[in-house]
Amino acid sequence: MDIRTNIPLKQYLTMQIGGTARFVTEVHSAEDVRTIVTNSRKEGVPFYILGGGSNVIAPDGRYNGIVIRNCIMGYEEIAEDKDTVTVKLGAGEVWDDFVKRVTRENLIGVEALSAIPGTCGAAPVQNIGAYGQEISDTLTELEAFDTQTDEIVTLSNDDCKFRYRNSIFRTEEQGRYIILTVTMRLYKGSPMPPFYSVLENHLKEKNITEYTATNIREAVIEIRANRLPNPAEKPNAGSFFKNSMVDKWLVDDLLQKYPDMPHFDMGGRIYKVPTGWLIEQCGLKGKLLHGIRVNPANALVLINESARGYSDLAQAREAISKAVSEKFHIHIEQEPLELA
Ligand SMILES: Cc1cc2nc3c(=O)[nH]c(=O)nc-3n(C[C@H](O)[C@H](O)[C@H](O)COP(=O)(O)OP(=O)(O)OC[C@H]3O[C@@H](n4cnc5c(N)ncnc54)[C@H](O)[C@@H]3O)c2cc1C
Repeated sequence: MDIRTNIPLKQYLTMQIGGTARFVTEVHSAEDVRTIVTNSRKEGVPFYILGGGSNVIAPDGRYNGIVIRNCIMGYEEIAEDKDTVTVKLGAGEVWDDFVKRVTRENLIGVEALSAIPGTCGAAPVQNIGAYGQEISDTLTELEAFDTQTDEIVTLSNDDCKFRYRNSIFRTEEQGRYIILTVTMRLYKGSPMPPFYSVLENHLKEKNITEYTATNIREAVIEIRANRLPNPAEKPNAGSFFKNSMVDKWLVDDLLQKYPDMPHFDMGGRIYKVPTGWLIEQCGLKGKLLHGIRVNPANALVLINESARGYSDLAQAREAISKAVSEKFHIHIEQEPLELA
């Protein structure tokens, strides 16, 4: 296994912010994972598993451990019945290559998750979601290397405790599992309305009335192209903040003052309030803060236009969070994880 030393991290992170890593390596199999974890532990070197780096930001200094880039490939149809096809994927496979492939085969279940950057192995970590679909709708199980027991375990959908942009992999079990494969059950047939409102409107505008996995994928790609900057041209990590989950009493209170505030009932007296709307109401949409541009098309996305490093990003983040907190008494939460 090739282990490289003192490597700049920016090249692996779509936000293009971060210092260096003491070591970087690639894993291509479960055995590689076992070897690298065992050796790192023996040497007392921490490790961090990285996919496409589209949801990670890194501090400016040196990460004194080993960054493990997941390159475990594989695509296998493992079961089929009259309604479904079940596919098992290597965690290093590019997510959107998988979506493209299955939508072409007229399988449904992930078409609204088109064009999300990153790898299949990272997709369960924050339960990726878009336009009314989440990976938790179709993932049946995954295999992972458990760094507590050094065993390869199978976790069911329930074991992952999926919720809005969250799972055990970024909360109570963060850092414990290295995901090796994901298994997805896809459906034969046509996507069924009602669709997520933005998608529904787009389909209406285009006079699309017969729905296929492919035309839904194309619609989603078109919508995203207008709202999300391409990280290759404008470095970003997608939504920098999660949408806000707010208690009913605070929503009711805020609606007195801001009757147009969008809010969606999530059950259990919790409402989702779009954080992009909150940031926009603070007058920050399109603004440049410490070299970080609040995306003019969608205030949830922060673009690294000219930041000198992580500290600039941290100052921009602080300014935005403070503005929202002072105006709405809502504490907004960062979506990307920190490499540490
Ligand atoms: C332009 C843009 C648009 C985006 N749009 C969306 C969107 O619509 N919806 C959405 O949900 N997300 C979106 N994202 C966020 C991002 O694409 C997803 O979170 C994606 O799943 C991250 O994949 P990755 O391989 O880049 O993960 P990384 O950024 O490399 O890693 C993310 C986290 O997962 C962990 N991880 C990675 N691989 C593994 C593994 N094999 N085992 C265990 N842990 C692992 C890492 O340690 C890290 O904590 C967007 C990002 C960008 C840049």
